Amino acid sequence: MKKKMGIFSFACCEGCQLQILDLGSSLLKLLGVADITYFKLAQEKNIFDKFDIAIIEGAISNKKELEELKQIRAASKYLVAIGACAVSGGIPSLIIEKTRKKTFGVDKFVKVDYHIRGCPIDKEEFEKIIIGFLVDKKEPEINHPVCVECNEKEIQCLFKKGLPCLGPVTAAGCKAICPESNTPCEACRGLIKDANIASVVNEFKKMGLSEKEILDKLYKFNPIDRKEAEKCI
Ligand code: SF4
Ligand code: SF4
Ligand code: SF4
Repeated sequence: MKKKMGIFSFACCEGCQLQILDLGSSLLKLLGVADITYFKLAQEKNIFDKFDIAIIEGAISNKKELEELKQIRAASKYLVAIGACAVSGGIPSLIIEKTRKKTFGVDKFVKVDYHIRGCPIDKEEFEKIIIGFLVDKKEPEINHPVCVECNEKEIQCLFKKGLPCLGPVTAAGCKAICPESNTPCEACRGLIKDANIASVVNEFKKMGLSEKEILDKLYKFNPIDRKEAEKCI
């Protein structure tokens, strides 16, 4: 019997769902082994029943969304959070300080079986992780920094050039696309566990950044880590 998947969206720009639609022929292959029974962005008829995999995009910003999220969790074998909004609050938590206090990633409320990181997600990574879940195989989550991918691709280090790059404390998996195009990493994939934030803060201070600039950078995609960041300032 084909597996059932549901794709749900909360507070966000829907850019991660567009990445899924952009999978093209790979999406058709995926549909050969699984039915997407709920995907409001892409289809008119949607059935809320049991799901082998629920895919959650977007942050939780009110009680109605929270209730819906709990229902999805109760109806699903696996729940996968996709994109910075679902993982940690992301862009919706940035809009205004007031919203920031009320907008969270989904694992603040329910068990999450996997976090597919990024803003937006990487569609090939999405495909690989979801195919794994369809055969009950969970890939380990990445916990090494973007710097590793820079080294693999022999990208010249921006940090060493005096630019405030968050790559040393950010979870890899994006193939270091920002440093590759000469742009410092902004940690859209979230911080690694046990990240040495104090060391990065110290270096950023030496580069001439103010405390506010440093906190805003660290906090941009990682709102729930602000307390941690404040301790390092
Ligand atoms: S993670 Fe980024 S691209 Fe994805 S829904 Fe949120 S804001 Fe949009
Ligand atoms: S550019 Fe940034 S991510 Fe790349 S090696 Fe330097 S500090 Fe690390
Ligand atoms: S380099 Fe940093 S900001 Fe850019 S995609 Fe990777 S994790 Fe996100």
